[in-house]
Amino acid sequence: MPRASTLRIARLAALALVLIVIIYKITNPSSLTTLSRAAGYHEKSVSTPGPEQKAPVTSGDKPAAPAKEEVKGEEKSSVDVKTSVDEGKDYVRANATFVTLARNQDIWSLVKSIRHVEDRFNRKYHYDWVFLNDDDFDDNFKEITSSLISGNVKYGKIPKEHWGFPDWIDQEKAAEVREQMRQKQIIYGDSISYRHMCRFESGFFFQQELMKPYKYYWRVEPDIILHCDVDYDVFKYMEKNGYDYGFTLSLYEYIDTIPTLWNSVKKFIKEHPEHIAENNLMNWLSEDNGITYNRCHFWSNFEIGNLDFWRSKAYRDFFEFLDHEGGFFYERWGDAPVHSIAAGLLLPKDKVHFFDDIGYWHVPFTNCPTNKADRLKLQCTCNPVDNFIWKGYSCTPRYYDVMEMKRPSEWHQQS
Ligand code: GDP
Ligand code: MN
Repeated sequence: MPRASTLRIARLAALALVLIVIIYKITNPSSLTTLSRAAGYHEKSVSTPGPEQKAPVTSGDKPAAPAKEEVKGEEKSSVDVKTSVDEGKDYVRANATFVTLARNQDIWSLVKSIRHVEDRFNRKYHYDWVFLNDDDFDDNFKEITSSLISGNVKYGKIPKEHWGFPDWIDQEKAAEVREQMRQKQIIYGDSISYRHMCRFESGFFFQQELMKPYKYYWRVEPDIILHCDVDYDVFKYMEKNGYDYGFTLSLYEYIDTIPTLWNSVKKFIKEHPEHIAENNLMNWLSEDNGITYNRCHFWSNFEIGNLDFWRSKAYRDFFEFLDHEGGFFYERWGDAPVHSIAAGLLLPKDKVHFFDDIGYWHVPFTNCPTNKADRLKLQCTCNPVDNFIWKGYSCTPRYYDVMEMKRPSEWHQQS
């Protein structure tokens, strides 16, 4: 072969090689990170308690940036530090986990929720996920859920004493109530398991072995949608702002499920005035300074909270008091009003946070960020017409008033 064509072939080969490298870099910018991620913290630990969430998170090939300090002065005057994932390679997660109560048959409703949470948030952060069940999780449930989650996954069985009738409950009376509620067609009124669920979520989820290592949690239910990106670390946000309870939707409770709950709460307030916080949210819960309950509650199928609040003496006394009142079984007290009244009375109001920027749906209500600019920035998929938070049955307008927060400019278009 003549020397000139050998040279040409060699030049072409070198050019092709350079091109291949450039194309690979463009299409796969975080190839190195992906490899280290697979080796580092993508392992699943099944049913092993223990804090494993402190492994450093490599944050891709973005340059290290200082923590963002965004003061949302319009809505709240408190510090509002949002930590996004591009903090650099030494990023350390908060001590936090997702938590889901579910049955094996919930798997196909749950996969959609998990996928939303991973795509919108957790694929960047890799927080752990704890699954709890009153029965054993089967292999199918474990295999599918763990394949979808980018953090450690743990599966726990709830002990009998946290899921059942306490011995002071009169079974006959409880059965009569269920029959009456069935006839009145009260939602879940005749269900035993729903009552165990509500009592468990009220008093015991934070006491489970698998939850013990953690401080913060995000509750996720089957069949929910995250409508927008969550582009900062919500757990660190809770920590840095000193928040203990975060919600997205609030509304009025069906009175038939809680006819005597407020009477019991008033008895508790009398017995334990030391547990009632100054500067609390009583005015959100009551329109007559505590004489009656207006039925406002945070919708607890979504919660981001501090487990230490539920573990506090104040809350444990509150739950024990209510548990002995019997209303989880003689009525159908939900964990939502129980949690909400506790957060509203046992915490100062600046410990409660409304996540206006987390687009969320649980049948049948939507939280869709009110202002268009936010929806575009967070790539939201919700229709603002469906935004529930300014509608008549929502308690969030009242929350804004009590907190003296300025409403987002476009709120009246959605009321
Ligand atoms: P709703 O949102 O009030 O209609 O109630 P859900 O049916 O969504 O139940 C609330 C949460 O408790 C969900 O995370 C369910 O998966 C879970 N759950 C409800 N009942 C049971 C039960 O009997 N066993 C278990 N393990 N989980 C349950
Ligand atoms: Mn639900």
